[in-house]
Amino acid sequence: MADVGRIVADIAGEMRGEEHRGKVASYIPPLACVPADKFGLAVVMADGSVHTAGDADQTFSIQSISKVFALTLALGAVGDQLWKRVGREPSGSAFNSIVQLETEHGIPRNPFINAGAIVVCDLLLGRLQPREAIGQMLRFVRELAGDDDTIRIDETVAQAEQDTGFRNMALANYMRAFGNIHSDVGMVLGTYFHFCALAMSCRQLAMAGRYLMHGGRVEGHRVITESRARRINALMMSCGHYDNSGDFAFRIGLPGKSGVGGGILAVAPGIASIAVWSPGLNEAGNSHLGQLALERLVQRTGWSVFEPRVG
Ligand code: GLU
Repeated sequence: MADVGRIVADIAGEMRGEEHRGKVASYIPPLACVPADKFGLAVVMADGSVHTAGDADQTFSIQSISKVFALTLALGAVGDQLWKRVGREPSGSAFNSIVQLETEHGIPRNPFINAGAIVVCDLLLGRLQPREAIGQMLRFVRELAGDDDTIRIDETVAQAEQDTGFRNMALANYMRAFGNIHSDVGMVLGTYFHFCALAMSCRQLAMAGRYLMHGGRVEGHRVITESRARRINALMMSCGHYDNSGDFAFRIGLPGKSGVGGGILAVAPGIASIAVWSPGLNEAGNSHLGQLALERLVQRTGWSVFEPRVG
């Protein structure tokens, strides 16, 4: 049985010494100010024990990791109707790519690229005002994380995305032209930017991911059906890292979702919920050290879902 506490501490120590740390995202101005030397890791085990190391309690912008929580809420709200407007295939393209939308008639490849998450927000706004949807998201992640009220939305980040998110505006308007955005584009984007601007620590994020390790339940409470939890995990495995998703599955072999703030949420079903944060990114916009740390974690624990299980 692996000594997870020890492994987590060792990996954090090794990451501290890494010279090549990737490049901090600068296209959202407040993210550019985050120091590249940060590294945090948190592992919540199925039995509830928690192991953390480094900057695991420092909050960061979760960015696209919020797409997992938004999808969970939208599936709860509209059910499988969602799949009429969003696909389930890896895109093989950048997170903010527009090219596939032309040939695929405004239907985004999956809910974890920007275009897909924007449609997910539009689905939520079919029943709620933006303010209500944002409030619902905040309550949802706080409840999932078992956190009373410290998780918040960073308004500076949300505003900066509003001011500079020209590509996202293009994506939303383009999909609107195909009839795949129904609400006001400005309201949909405002909601999307606020979701991306959620600020959480690795510990909070790993706690919030517990329902995905426990088949949709957390502490006896059902968050989502078992089959939906399984399918969200499948999508995280196939689509969670943009055009780097194949490599993530190859190297790490866990469902995971990254964000340009440098965070990654990964799930070892039945075993652990894991969050890692290091702001320097690789070419595809995924945390460079975050991926390296997860690779070492699965090597030392045998948690890859492709590992043969005894029993
Ligand atoms: N808010 C970011 C954007 O829309 C999210 C991208 C990401 O984390 O991958 O560009």
